Amino acid sequence: MDQRRRRFVGQCAAMAGTSAVSAMIGRIPAEAAPAEPLRNWAGNYRYSTGNVTSATSLAQVQAFVRKHERFKVLGTRHCFNGIADSVDAFLSLREMTAVVALDRSAKTVTVEAGASYGQLCPPLDRDGFALHNLASLPHISIAGACATATHGSGVDNGNLSTAVSAFEIVTAGGDVLTFARSKDPRAFQAAVVNLGALGVVTKVTLDVQPSYAMRQDVYLDLPMAQLPEHFEAIVSAGYSVSLFTDWRQGTINEVWVKRRVEKGQSLTASPDFYGARPATANVHPIVELSAENCTEQMGVVGPWYERLPHFRMGFTPSSGKELQSEYFVARSNAVDAIRAVERLRDHVSPHLMITELRTIAADDLWMSPCYKRPSLAIHFTWKQDWPAVRKVLPMIERELAPFQVRPHWGKLFTIPSAQLQSRYEMCAPFKQLVAEHDPRGKFRNAFLSTHLYK
Ligand SMILES: Cc1cc2nc3c(=O)[nH]c(=O)nc-3n(C[C@H](O)[C@H](O)[C@H](O)COP(=O)(O)OP(=O)(O)OC[C@H]3O[C@@H](n4cnc5c(N)ncnc54)[C@H](O)[C@@H]3O)c2cc1C
Repeated sequence: MDQRRRRFVGQCAAMAGTSAVSAMIGRIPAEAAPAEPLRNWAGNYRYSTGNVTSATSLAQVQAFVRKHERFKVLGTRHCFNGIADSVDAFLSLREMTAVVALDRSAKTVTVEAGASYGQLCPPLDRDGFALHNLASLPHISIAGACATATHGSGVDNGNLSTAVSAFEIVTAGGDVLTFARSKDPRAFQAAVVNLGALGVVTKVTLDVQPSYAMRQDVYLDLPMAQLPEHFEAIVSAGYSVSLFTDWRQGTINEVWVKRRVEKGQSLTASPDFYGARPATANVHPIVELSAENCTEQMGVVGPWYERLPHFRMGFTPSSGKELQSEYFVARSNAVDAIRAVERLRDHVSPHLMITELRTIAADDLWMSPCYKRPSLAIHFTWKQDWPAVRKVLPMIERELAPFQVRPHWGKLFTIPSAQLQSRYEMCAPFKQLVAEHDPRGKFRNAFLSTHLYK
């Protein structure tokens, strides 16, 4: 047993007793310098350097931070823009995936920041605990997801970073700080969605709850005409609801309703869902594609972590030929915002693979797109044709401007920086906090300079 593993098991035994999470090893080999240029998951973004160093301990992270003038932490590379990019060097925590502690009475789990949700969830479930929500796929790193306010769906579900109750971070000087919800709520709210600008997050503590079962039912061809009157009822029909449309036929092509199933409870699918009909087999969000990589549907009950994402854990795409954009508006403007995008369908649909509409609860995290605003997220999975997509995005952004639209930090957008900053009322104090912890811009890159400092 190596030193690191011994430390990990020792801590778990002390804090949590024998547990499935303590059996989680999840070590990933160090990333070798790539022969090919280093790209993001979608392949659309080429990073400015292939110089990646892997850390395996807090001490190594601190030493790296002290040695380097400028660098960025690279997560699982699922962002579609340059938010993670560096011209100098990358630090990867992909080898730091251990579960440090499961605190059953406080209902929290603490995990090293390189772990992905896919690595954390199955052992957490075996120990009888669950997270409140997940994104569409489980392969993203927890620290990277929380840095950009990644979300799932559900009117009562905050984005994934709202589950963070504390985190450990190495700041520009190499010091180790802990931000905790219970210790200094204001600093904590400022720092959770940190856009990678504050330092290297090394550990994250997440709220957990008793494990739960879910079922997923899909309905086909919901008339868009149902939305004005029934939008709230439709998006509240389950714990997590996603609406998929290509905007072509005046219909929501698919409605995915994910419901929690309590012990002994038997639920059924309604034969008619606001004019939509139940699917008769598993489907992919793009109806023509095979559903083999999608999570189980047709009302089959299963664990939360195999129903909340749309794509299976076991399916590990290393890249995807697509682009993504996503825009957040207040849920009170949902129907008008959907209508505004529908008006653009002749511009949007030719370049689109699929749109997904999801709801997210309001939060109090300063740089979250859902800050103080129960939200609708309008997502676009585009064909990988950036010249065409780049022309459509300003049209969408113009149509959604009256709703004070905020873009997803990890996806593609063209909103000018002054407008973007004006949509985040806590942007200026966030930058003050960054200046306090990173006075010389060690973690600043071109993305942050362009969008936060111009
Ligand atoms: C196929 C696909 C599906 C997606 N589905 C969803 C979805 O359902 N919902 C949604 O909201 N988003 C979704 N996304 C977007 C994705 O969740 C975000 O882009 C997320 O930030 C990706 O995390 P990452 O680890 O890959 O981050 P990276 O792209 O590697 O990095 C993102 C940022 O986090 C910082 N960072 C990463 N780790 C650390 C650390 N340890 N310390 C400090 N900073 C760090 C980086 O420096 C960078 O600034 C999806 C993306 C893809 C490709």
